[in-house]
Formats: sequence, structure tokens, C-alpha cells
Amino acid sequence: MGGLVCANLLSKKGQRVLVLERQHQPGGCLQSYRRGTMMYDTGLHYVGGLAEGQPLHDIFKELGLLSLPWQRLDPEGFDRIMIGNHEFLFAEGFDCFLATLAKDFPEDKESLRQYVSLLQCTDEEWMQKTNAYTYLSSIIHTPLLLSVLSGACLKMELRRQTLPLFTYVHGNAPFIQSSWRLKGDGNMLVRKLIENLSAQGGELICDAEVVELVEREGIISKAVCKSGEVYEARYFISDAHPSITLSLVKESQVLKKIYRRRIDSLENTNGMFTTQLLLKPNEVPYFNYNEFLYDGYEAWDGRGYMVSCRVPEGDSHYARQIDILTPMNINECSAWINTRCMHRGEEYLRFKEQKAQECIAVAERFLPDLHSHIQEIHTSTPLTYRDYNLSPDGSAYGIRKDAAAPLMTVLSPRTSIPNLLLTGQSLMLHGLHGVTMTAMYTTREIIE
Ligand SMILES: Cc1cc2nc3c(=O)[nH]c(=O)nc-3n(C[C@H](O)[C@H](O)[C@H](O)COP(=O)(O)OP(=O)(O)OC[C@H]3O[C@@H](n4cnc5c(N)ncnc54)[C@H](O)[C@@H]3O)c2cc1C
Repeated sequence: MGGLVCANLLSKKGQRVLVLERQHQPGGCLQSYRRGTMMYDTGLHYVGGLAEGQPLHDIFKELGLLSLPWQRLDPEGFDRIMIGNHEFLFAEGFDCFLATLAKDFPEDKESLRQYVSLLQCTDEEWMQKTNAYTYLSSIIHTPLLLSVLSGACLKMELRRQTLPLFTYVHGNAPFIQSSWRLKGDGNMLVRKLIENLSAQGGELICDAEVVELVEREGIISKAVCKSGEVYEARYFISDAHPSITLSLVKESQVLKKIYRRRIDSLENTNGMFTTQLLLKPNEVPYFNYNEFLYDGYEAWDGRGYMVSCRVPEGDSHYARQIDILTPMNINECSAWINTRCMHRGEEYLRFKEQKAQECIAVAERFLPDLHSHIQEIHTSTPLTYRDYNLSPDGSAYGIRKDAAAPLMTVLSPRTSIPNLLLTGQSLMLHGLHGVTMTAMYTTREIIE
């Protein structure tokens, strides 16, 4: 998304743009894969803030993405948080969000008011350096409410020691404004970006892994691909993880060792385990929301699960495909750390099967008897993301931001090489919203 949005914005302004993608298909985390007749998404379940006046509306319109078939999630409860046996609903719009939760927490109305005004805060510098957990605990005194409010946060790493308020607010507020699913797979979004890019004169080449960025006289002069192809340009933007980008500049007069060391030392967020289910036809009704499940009261640092449903084809009211996501650290896969995709052995398959069954058992708390409706199960671990997208540690959201060290962990698109720019989820914000905003910052370094 980061690379494709930069390419779109630059080509629209008349720049000649070429995108080099190492994989066989473009899209990175947005790509979909086929098993049988069904397409499965990898890193796209829903997007927030697409309606008029909301954060992604104008830029998605400019990118031609608003014309895709978006399905608005249930305004009365687009996200639902199940803690124990109680389900709490997130309603669309800040006022309805507040009013709905105030019915469950009448004593906490004032806290909810403060929370909703926090979600509309625009003081970015303050939010970058403020620890989300500490701040939220200071305005919300009922532990269950704090868990509920943070319950849809599987779309970020809910880590109490580090998570900045900035990530928390940007990862929640747009979804409360309005939440949307694509009627179709994430490839639609990728295809649209590529279609626009070529209409604007830009180009994309797949199977083109950049293995070196050659520096001459203090600037990058060319990108060398694994195939031996060489591309010269005035500017180079990298959407790869920043430490991978820097490793591509093998010799440099400009990049200081201390900068390389700093980037290499940054920690990455955890990865995800995903269980993707193909369901038997016409058995499980489609649900137009995401369900988040927690065992105990504590969402922070806890083991949460997100259950998301793909919009059915045609006018069917039944779900064919459901994803269950839960955070996973790559260390849980340490036994297979030196293996590659499709060659990890039987033990790994058993590990994934067992984990998938755990996820299905949790999902059965809200979809009783789910196991009897399953036709196929597909799974992925952080190793999958590491090997396909070159995401270090199989991280789902890139570099971990730390409220205690914003200057270290929030990266600028600029590097010390004047014509080498960075973009993507590791810089400032992750997710479609974050990566799109970051791409706008990156391209502003080249054009106004
Ligand atoms: C399981 C999961 C679920 C998610 N769900 C959502 C969601 O519902 N909503 C949402 O908004 N966000 C979601 N996200 C996050 C979102 O998908 C990402 O934040 C976003 O897509 C990242 O985009 P990116 O461009 O920064 O990186 P990537 O998608 O990783 O793109 C980087 C690209 O660079 C390529 N590359 C790397 N090295 C080289 C090289 N040397 N040469 C050439 N190419 C190279 C890679 O192949 C890849 O295509 C999810 C993520 C995960 C993992």
C-alpha cells in the first residue's frame, strides 16, 4: 500500500514512476491468495473513516478507491467486544458510541465523555509522547470499561509499556466514525491502484527484488535487482522495512553507522496467527461486524481474538469465509525459524492445526458449533509474513512505537541520503489509514 500510494500520487503530479516488487504479485500485506475457488485476504479486514468529511475520504477519492464496492458495517455495532459472556457494542459516530456504552456503564458517563473527546484530539506531538495505557487509566477508573474500550485493538499491538496515545487514537477514531469492508478481496484495491498508476503513465514490475541501492557521490544512483536488471532514478522511495532498506545500501559515505545501528536496534511489533475458514454453503448467517473475544477482563497484554466475516457473494445472506486472528510472537515458532514456506515439516503443520483448533473453540463462544460448519482451514503464522513480505520477526505492524522514545521510534521519511526516502507502516502509523497518510508525507518531500 505504501509504495503503490506514493507511486499514484507522484505519477498524478506528472512524475515518471516505476514500482519494483519482489513478489510474484503486488500488494504486500494487501494481497489475496487463492485456494480452490475461494480468495483469502492476508492483511485487510476493515477500514475506517471513508465517509464524507472523515480522515480517508478525500485521499481515497483522489486515489480512485472510493469507487470500489465498500460495505458499511452495522452502525449499531460495527465492533462487538465479548468479555466473559457479556457483549459490548461499538456504535458508529462518537455520540452514539458514547450513548451505547453509557447504557452498560452509567456510572462512567463522564469518563466516556473524556474518552470520546480524546479520540478527537489533534495535538499529535503530545499524543506521540503520552503512554496510552497510563493516560487511559487516569481517565477511566473502571477496569472492565478500560478493557472494553480497548477491546477492538487487535489492529494494533496493545502493549501497556510502550503504546503511544497517537497510535491508539488513530487506530480507533476513524473506525468509530464509520467502518467498512470490501465486497470482494484486497486484490481489488491493489488492482485499482495499479490500474490508475498505468493510466497515469507509471509502471510496476513484479519478481523484481532490489538487492542493492548503489550510492555514488552521496546520492543513490541506481537500484540493482536480483535478476541483474539495473534502474536509475532521481529519487528512490523504499516501502520495505527501514532496516532492510538500509542493508541494501552496502557502501555509503553518508549513512552514519550510528543511524544504521539505531534503526537495526528498534523492536518490531508482534505478528499474527490467522485461521481462515471456508464454511459450508448456506449454514452460517453473515454477520456485518467484527467480534472481539477475551477470556478475562484484561484486554491489555491479554490474548484477544478477532473474528471477521467476508461479505457474501451476490445477494446471499450466508457467510462462506471467516477469519480468526490472534497475536503471536515469532518466538512461538522458534523451532522452525530457519525453515522456509512450504518446507517446515509435519511438526509445524501439527502446531498450526492445534492452534487453529484453539481459535475455533474460542470463536464458538459466539458462533456455537462453528466446527461442524467448516469445509476447509488455512492458517498462517509470523513466519509466513516474514517470508512473503520480508517483515522482520513476521511483525504485523512494523516498528514498535514507544511513547517514552518518540524521537527514536517514529521515523521521518528522510534519510541522510538526500534522494533516498522511506515510506510504509514502520514510519509513523500502520494500517491502511496510517500507511496512506505516511505515503502523503513521503511524497511531499518530492512534490508539494
Ligand atoms: C494479519 C493482518 C491483518 C491486518 N488487518 C488490517 C485491517 O483490517 N485494516 C487495516 O487498515 N490494516 C490491517 N493490517 C495492516 C496493514 O495490512 C498494513 O499496515 C499495511 O498493508 C502495510 O503496508 P506497507 O506498504 O507498509 O507494507 P507491506 O504491505 O509489507 O509492503 C511492503 C512491500 O515491499 C516489498 N518488498 C520488500 N523488500 C523488497 C525488495 N528488496 N525489493 C522489492 N520489493 C520489496 C514486499 O514484498 C511488499 O510487497 C493488517 C495486517 C496484518 C498482518
